[in-house]
Amino acid sequence: MKKSGALLVCCSLLLPAADIESQYRDVSKKIIEAALADQEGLDRLQYLCDRIGHRLSGSESLEKAIQWSAAEMKKAGLTNVQTPPVKVPHWVRGNEYATMLAPTVKKLPMLGLGMSVGTPPEGITADVVTVASFDELAALGKEKVQGKIVLFDPVWEGYGQTVIYRATGASRAAELGAVGVLVRSMTGRSLATPHTGGLNYIAGVAKIPAAAITVEDAALIHRLAKGGVPVKVKLMMEAKTLPDADSHNVMGEIRGSEKPEEVVVLGGHIDSWDIGQGANDDGSGVIAAFQAVALLQKLGLKPKRTIRVVFWVNEENGGAGGRAYRAMLGDAAKNHVAAIEMDGGAEKPLGFGYGTGGAQRRRTTANAPATPVKATSAASFQRAVDIGKLLSGIGGGQMTPGGGGADIAPLLAAGVPGFGVQTGGGHYNDWHHTDSDTFDKIVPSEFRANVASLAVLSFVLADMPERIGDIE
Ligand SMILES: [Zn+2]
Repeated sequence: MKKSGALLVCCSLLLPAADIESQYRDVSKKIIEAALADQEGLDRLQYLCDRIGHRLSGSESLEKAIQWSAAEMKKAGLTNVQTPPVKVPHWVRGNEYATMLAPTVKKLPMLGLGMSVGTPPEGITADVVTVASFDELAALGKEKVQGKIVLFDPVWEGYGQTVIYRATGASRAAELGAVGVLVRSMTGRSLATPHTGGLNYIAGVAKIPAAAITVEDAALIHRLAKGGVPVKVKLMMEAKTLPDADSHNVMGEIRGSEKPEEVVVLGGHIDSWDIGQGANDDGSGVIAAFQAVALLQKLGLKPKRTIRVVFWVNEENGGAGGRAYRAMLGDAAKNHVAAIEMDGGAEKPLGFGYGTGGAQRRRTTANAPATPVKATSAASFQRAVDIGKLLSGIGGGQMTPGGGGADIAPLLAAGVPGFGVQTGGGHYNDWHHTDSDTFDKIVPSEFRANVASLAVLSFVLADMPERIGDIE
């Protein structure tokens, strides 16, 4: 027994790729087969979507989802199932509408931006000035912006580039005296559907109400503005922020057989916006991660390290769950050997971004550790690539530098190696933060493939001889 263990260590050092491949080929096949035949995960996701529904922080449905999730984890035989408390922002949308009053009367389908303030009860009626960029806004100056509603209609350059207008447009316009903000929805394709999402008010700047309108209506108003036609809009929003609410993360695990204190954590966020069903964002992420662990449990696989699934709360409008989880670990964060996040929908899995530097790009707290984050060594990255080869049959094993995600950013900042699921993403932004993010958008075979790739990656990371971050 002892001898063969020593032999394994020796060979894994000499021939890491071949070792991973030969050691885990059979078990990976078994896991993938089980995941591709699994119906239980889809049933769970359907229940979450259809029976519980959307799950905004502070809502009753979120708490229902959390209690249901913990019960399902227990039902699946996971151990150490807990719902550690987390205080979350409590923003409430209320009634809202927008109407174009001139040059024609037209209802503008809209969604107030998350964390926006409301309007006075009678709403705000004002002329609209349209800009495509912050430079155009600055060029207009106070005199042309004061007392107006500013519409941001930037060219769509992808979510990462363009979302800045949703995130900070309200404060930038308020600095010049605007009374309200409209922003084109953050999508490249639209069938007249508004997309919500969070905004961040800049400290010290007046808070003005802000809402997303459809790409089509933004284009319409922009065309009118270019033609010199005055546009008047009425915006009414009851949105308000209540005192922080009590909520919870959810966690459960398969305890490691040899090094239970060392943990591979995987998950996504259980909260969603207060529209649609949060099916792809991020119901699919939490349930795929959970089902991956549930399947390992069902198959009776006993990894050497602990595999823990976590449903982080409040990703959409605060990130409190990810920070609370990191704080809960304290010093034990150093025992986290990897963190895996799925938060990009359950379309066909391509692979994972892997790295430890992601947290530097997306620092979530002012007091995140200032110590530099260790870079991934070439050998460590190569190991990730080798693990990815075990997924070649389903095409979900491509490793690219990067990794991370909002919920695991605090872990990455503590030096934990991070993996972020990457999917085909062909339609993700079409549904993202809309009423149409619903269960019917989930393609069963693609969801199952995500479960398979999460299960294989987490199992191998938890079972292989070395901690992936320690491979030099
Ligand atoms: Zn998300």
